[in-house]
Amino acid sequence: MSDHEEQGLLTQVRKHHYEGRIISVDHLEDMKKELEDHYRRGAIAEEIYQKYISRFTFGPPRELPEAVSLVVIAAPQPMTRVVFCWKGKKIPVTIPPTYLSETRTRRTVKKLLSEVTHTKYTFLEASVPEKLVAVHSGLAAYGRNNITYFSEMGSFYIPLVFFSDLQGTGSWHDIHMMESCQKCSACLKKCPTHAITSERFLINAERCLTLHNEKPSAVPFPQWVDPSWHNCLVGCMQCQYVCPENRKATNWVEEGPVFSEDETALLLEGFLLEELPSETAEKLTHFEMEVLLDIIPRNLKMLLPL
Ligand code: SF4
Ligand code: SF4
Repeated sequence: MSDHEEQGLLTQVRKHHYEGRIISVDHLEDMKKELEDHYRRGAIAEEIYQKYISRFTFGPPRELPEAVSLVVIAAPQPMTRVVFCWKGKKIPVTIPPTYLSETRTRRTVKKLLSEVTHTKYTFLEASVPEKLVAVHSGLAAYGRNNITYFSEMGSFYIPLVFFSDLQGTGSWHDIHMMESCQKCSACLKKCPTHAITSERFLINAERCLTLHNEKPSAVPFPQWVDPSWHNCLVGCMQCQYVCPENRKATNWVEEGPVFSEDETALLLEGFLLEELPSETAEKLTHFEMEVLLDIIPRNLKMLLPL
């Protein structure tokens, strides 16, 4: 791919309200080394390493051995408000950006990449540390809370990475904390679990609510988790709500499904998608919420007056 073609692709991507970078696939080895160094030094807990990092692919995939680049795209994404009717009340519950509609967004972006290159190149979903790729490509930057921020959308975006056989000229950027974090500690003060510390760059991820409320409902919350800390159906928005880098995005909420009392009761029981009434199942799949079915019973109990 010529420089001209690369710029053309990135311009087209921008026209669709995304932002992109194309970096060499060779940098995956650097990222692998970086993560393993953190792990060996004990800065990444065994559980985090096994759950998130060990499943990544750090080289061209078998399906596309000729891959030479990583195409990383930042797609803006809102929070979603889901309403659960319960005991005569309508209880709004937030789902942070990045949890829903990932498959749909990924499909849309892949189609766009294919169209703007006239199907000349292949784009294959990459199982890589997407936030790390976004930061090293210069597309995003880390906050003190270890969440990545992208331009004016702050943390309201999803990074999508594709292996490709097109050449890119994007450069490699060192990891650094956002400039605005130098004089700010709003997230550190707000974090209910004290996962964010001033002593080191990496948060204590094993203290982060997200790690615990993303587990299946069969896994209870640790004793030290105060029930009043829960603020989302999954994940946690506390450090993102207070972040000044999110001031333009923090009110960006899309309305999600409304579940009746009967539906809420079924969701609390932990029924599988195929066991639910078709109308309920459709509401879930329309928003790609079926991926949360396994965690809803435990997490929702923390947010409803039972
Ligand atoms: S709240 Fe402040 S310190 Fe935390 S990520 Fe945002 S800018 Fe950085
Ligand atoms: S997501 Fe919640 S628990 Fe995790 S660091 Fe941010 S405020 Fe703390």
